[in-house]
Amino acid sequence: MKCSSCGKEIETERNWVEFPCPSCGKEKIIRCKRCKRMENAYNCSKCGFTGP
Ligand SMILES: [Zn+2]
Ligand SMILES: [Zn+2]
Repeated sequence: MKCSSCGKEIETERNWVEFPCPSCGKEKIIRCKRCKRMENAYNCSKCGFTGP
């Protein structure tokens, strides 16, 4: 599994979040602790939604 923002593998991370895409609700968005803190943008691979 990879962070949806930076693409980093999150298996080695302790703190990360997983939530459904706010737009389509079908894709799981994964964000590592760093991207969450930095509020980096993420991209849904299913519908193309970009957020936070
Ligand atoms: Zn990240
Ligand atoms: Zn989506």
